Amino acid sequence: MEFVQFHPTTLYGTNILISEAARGEGGYLKNINGERFMSQYAPQKMELAPRDLVSRSIFREIKEGRGFEGKYVHLDVTHLGEALVAERLPQVRDLALRYAGIDPAKAPIPIEPAQHYSMGGVRTDTWGCTSLPGLMAAGEAANVSVHGANRLGGNSLLETVVFGRRAGCRAAELAGAESWPALSSQTVVRSLESWANLYNNRRKYTRDDDIYSIRQGVTEVMTSQVGVFRMAGELEDAVQRIGELKERFGRQAPAAGPQPFNYALMDYLETGYLLDLCEIIAGGALRRTESRGAHYRLDYPRRDDQKWLCHTFAQKREGGSEYSAGPVKITTYEPRERGY
Ligand SMILES: Cc1cc2nc3c(=O)[nH]c(=O)nc-3n(C[C@H](O)[C@H](O)[C@H](O)COP(=O)(O)OP(=O)(O)OC[C@H]3O[C@@H](n4cnc5c(N)ncnc54)[C@H](O)[C@@H]3O)c2cc1C
Repeated sequence: MEFVQFHPTTLYGTNILISEAARGEGGYLKNINGERFMSQYAPQKMELAPRDLVSRSIFREIKEGRGFEGKYVHLDVTHLGEALVAERLPQVRDLALRYAGIDPAKAPIPIEPAQHYSMGGVRTDTWGCTSLPGLMAAGEAANVSVHGANRLGGNSLLETVVFGRRAGCRAAELAGAESWPALSSQTVVRSLESWANLYNNRRKYTRDDDIYSIRQGVTEVMTSQVGVFRMAGELEDAVQRIGELKERFGRQAPAAGPQPFNYALMDYLETGYLLDLCEIIAGGALRRTESRGAHYRLDYPRRDDQKWLCHTFAQKREGGSEYSAGPVKITTYEPRERGY
């Protein structure tokens, strides 16, 4: 779960994706000095370097004071001409006009990187089966282990069309053929009790604390401390802060009300899951003392195959998450260091 892909070009302030097509057609990334800064980071590939590298380069430019207002850089397609922009980049033009009031044929688009895709997920086999009989996962939620530590754009087709279909086929087979063990009555009672406790035993919303401020808190932690650049001290602090947010969450109760269409209940449940996921992203990133794919540690900038050519598995236990390492299956292509 520590491998999170950031997309380099989203519209500043809204994080609406500005497609790779803009760079594919010949768009430039420029800093406040008007420099095509990718020449510093990937002189061969320039703007067409992979997403993780371009995202890191943009953040570095901003961090080192060469961004606009200290927050964004420019994606410039003005040199391509109005006709090409209209014909080849109609969606980019529409989005920039609609959400930033900018015509990209005439002015550069302000952009910043943003979280885009989760390489990790629920561990499955290549038929979408998890370790829990009958529970299946497919798509971005699953980890079939085809992406490794990074992901090529477009690979969701593989996830959804290939593995989604396989999971569907297997689910149909299982539903038709398997007889399921009866649920233990103890489990049912425990489950009903914990549901009732949500409403009965916990403190209701208070003015000074609610799940929305907890959600805001975890967003801030993840953005500032578990983003593109990571290092031990910040990750340790992030894990601790997420733990504190979880404690606060434990004192909350969902808003009372009818259960169908109770969006506050949905927000409440999602916030709990969000905290669990953020904890294992930060925890996995802290454990992994190397840089690989989308995971970049400032304090461990090199890849370490000896120690870390492995998966991180996280399991939920009573006292918190438990981490372990799992083997990576290598087939035709030996992994090797990337150079641009
Ligand atoms: C802006 C953007 C552009 C992208 N462009 C590309 C691209 O060009 N090519 C590419 O390959 N990938 C692209 N991706 C990634 C790709 O879109 C996703 O990885 C892919 O759509 C994931 O598919 P999915 O079916 O796994 O999940 P989703 O498409 O997210 O589907 C999950 C569904 O589950 C529903 N759901 C959630 N919770 C519940 C619940 N509790 N009960 C019932 N339903 C629920 C959701 O409403 C949703 O409909 C892009 C992603 C983004 C954000």
